[in-house]
Amino acid sequence: MGLTAIAAASPVSIEAVEKVTSKKRRRHAVPHVNQVPKTGKLKLSFFPYELKLRHAFNLARYSRTTTPDVQVTLEYEGIKGYGEASMPPYLGESVESVTAFLNKLDLEQFKDPFCIEDILSYVDSVDENNRAAKASIDIALHDLLGKIMGQPWYKIWGYNPEKTPVTSFTIGIDTPEVVRQKVEEARPYKLIKAKMGLDQDQATINIINEMMPDVPICVDCNQGWNNKEYALEMCHWLKEHNCIFVEQPFDKTWIDEPLPIIADEAFQRLPDIVRFKGVYDGINIKLMKSTGLYEAHKMVTLARALDMKVMIGCMTETSCAVTAAANLSPVVDYADLDGNLLIANDRFTGMTVENGKITLHDRPGLGIKLLK
Ligand SMILES: [Mg+2]
Repeated sequence: MGLTAIAAASPVSIEAVEKVTSKKRRRHAVPHVNQVPKTGKLKLSFFPYELKLRHAFNLARYSRTTTPDVQVTLEYEGIKGYGEASMPPYLGESVESVTAFLNKLDLEQFKDPFCIEDILSYVDSVDENNRAAKASIDIALHDLLGKIMGQPWYKIWGYNPEKTPVTSFTIGIDTPEVVRQKVEEARPYKLIKAKMGLDQDQATINIINEMMPDVPICVDCNQGWNNKEYALEMCHWLKEHNCIFVEQPFDKTWIDEPLPIIADEAFQRLPDIVRFKGVYDGINIKLMKSTGLYEAHKMVTLARALDMKVMIGCMTETSCAVTAAANLSPVVDYADLDGNLLIANDRFTGMTVENGKITLHDRPGLGIKLLK
């Protein structure tokens, strides 16, 4: 896969093609891949790293000021790949469960880090659930392999970085004063995501409409609406107030909605897409649910083939996991990749947002750089 992508990336003349028929020349033409040693060991290390939120995060079902996180490094022949597991409470994972899971892994059995399918199938088989823990390995492995190949993943997948979408800025549930302050912060963004599901739903939207009258809004209820009539009524009202879709209005139930409905909490792994076709209009993919990029990439392909809307989202995460997800963004309909902006202690720099649009950089791997 990587070999083909890199070979295809360089323009070649007919003479050049004839020349590379010799083994020696071929090695010269694709230096990165053929220089990969197959005798090294994959070394895993990790440590807990609590993410400090810049504002308290209020959702329909809980509020918090920190997010537990575990930072992961996979090293092969002196090259380091970085990953992370972020554990918002509703996923049911914790620093303890992630640490216990990672301690069970024997990755040194794999001599060739490019056997992604073998490595990640093994990781997935070690225990049930533990999706964020599995994602941390997947993300670090992708960072490592991209660095060995010398290319960022969006290029390896063949995606055009010009086609990245705008990303939304999230406004949590809060008092009118705090909502106003957050809308002010959201000025550079071209899409607002409003969290809903408590009493002040309409007041929040009214403030956004007043302060940013031309900006479209996506609404995320996090399963907060527990009354079907109210949900339907709100969908009609929202349609008249610049809203373009509603994410997870309530608990895994479907209504005959006037706005597109995107599944988030209800949607976890690849086979869910087949069940959700005809039930939800689209899916919100997050690496901490999908067990990482390898499965997320398959999800994007399958959902698009089924003509479903694709959104790429994140948890509160450092720029490591957020940038990993951004590599898929050129082929999604909506992006909600602001998790790194919500924390005060990011360890990495990676993708940036320019004029509201996701901007990918040329660094190999995920495209991240350790800050200290
Ligand atoms: Mg959501």
